[in-house]
Amino acid sequence: MNSYFLQSALLSDGWHRHVRVTVKDSIFERIELNAKPQDNDQSMTHVIPAMPNAHSHVFQRAMAGLSEFRSSEGDDFWSWRDLMYRLANRLDTSTLYAVAKACYTEMRQAGYASVCEFHYVHRSREDAQDFLTHSKTLLKAADEVGLPITFLPVLYAYAGAGERPLSAEQKRFELSTKEYINLFKQLQKELQPQQQLGICFHSLRAVNQQQMQQVLKALPNDAPVHIHIAEQQAEVEQTLKHLGQRPVAWLFEHFKVDKRWALVHATHLDEQEVSMLAKSGAVAVLCPLTEANLGDGIFPMPAYQAAEGRWAIGSDSHIEIKPQQEFKMLEYSQRLKYQQRNVCCDEKQPHVGTWMWLQALSAGSQASGGIGHGITKGSRAAVIELFPEDPEKQAELALDDWVFSDRTQSIAHLL
Ligand SMILES: [Zn+2]
Repeated sequence: MNSYFLQSALLSDGWHRHVRVTVKDSIFERIELNAKPQDNDQSMTHVIPAMPNAHSHVFQRAMAGLSEFRSSEGDDFWSWRDLMYRLANRLDTSTLYAVAKACYTEMRQAGYASVCEFHYVHRSREDAQDFLTHSKTLLKAADEVGLPITFLPVLYAYAGAGERPLSAEQKRFELSTKEYINLFKQLQKELQPQQQLGICFHSLRAVNQQQMQQVLKALPNDAPVHIHIAEQQAEVEQTLKHLGQRPVAWLFEHFKVDKRWALVHATHLDEQEVSMLAKSGAVAVLCPLTEANLGDGIFPMPAYQAAEGRWAIGSDSHIEIKPQQEFKMLEYSQRLKYQQRNVCCDEKQPHVGTWMWLQALSAGSQASGGIGHGITKGSRAAVIELFPEDPEKQAELALDDWVFSDRTQSIAHLL
């Protein structure tokens, strides 16, 4: 058992000064407020809980920074996707393992508490019939690094809206619903402590209604459910054409979308979709750096916030692995779009850094299923310690400073 005296700590209801925590086997056993330091306490400065990473395609880390040159006139998400397919098709199992270990290590060091791994490169290069080895490889990599994982095997059946058959480059992603359910059941036997499974549909482009219903019926009804949705304007247009509705509107009409669900991106929403998503208690998983890198668009945060919608962050393509940079990009994109400052905050919590951190922590934990987050009894004691240039700096300002400027430094710890 270890004990720590924290000058300030960010708890679920905001900042507290002089917090004493005791930790056993990396789990918070006790949190004391307005405490006095004890003899054996290790002393820490301003401490915030590590952040759940609610969306990852770990293999894409291998191409981060390598597609930043023009390859065609109208370079966009779709031309990037062609490059990404090339990478996916070159991956063998040992490369996937090496990339995953390095990427999960970076996540831990950057202050991510856990990861939701959205995995669709199912079939190994060595044996196209083998769709289990890659999943086991990623679970092993996360376990060895000590990063809790919500593993999300992805159902991927079509190339695009209208049930277009998969292209040659997408064949390694393909699973039938029977194979998917089989994979999920096999993985249930492989899980280590701090690991769990969720259900995942690639997107409305890649699966149909019947397949989704079959999978949801066959698998545990308390598992989280993740799906990419409305990331690109072209995707909204395709869905309108083939399903007769916008993607989020269609999903809500055909499925009971509730707190189990995480809608990844949800960038292009109309007013009605903003309201439906917010009311449902489902989480919008925003990936601000990747969405900026791919030219996806800007999430309508003011309207979503006014409707009290829940949102988390994910590092998605891992163009950069730093939670504070995701928040900076999110806030700056809103400033640029709405020509205002300090958009992501409210009357109760005017500090942008603190407001965003608490929102994404709570919703990210929900999207991760049962893994505990936050500085609270029973949660995993994964934290980030902030070191402002002036040690007397108020904690709210230190967190803002870390997000928006380079002066405040940080170290991530597993206590
Ligand atoms: Zn994604």
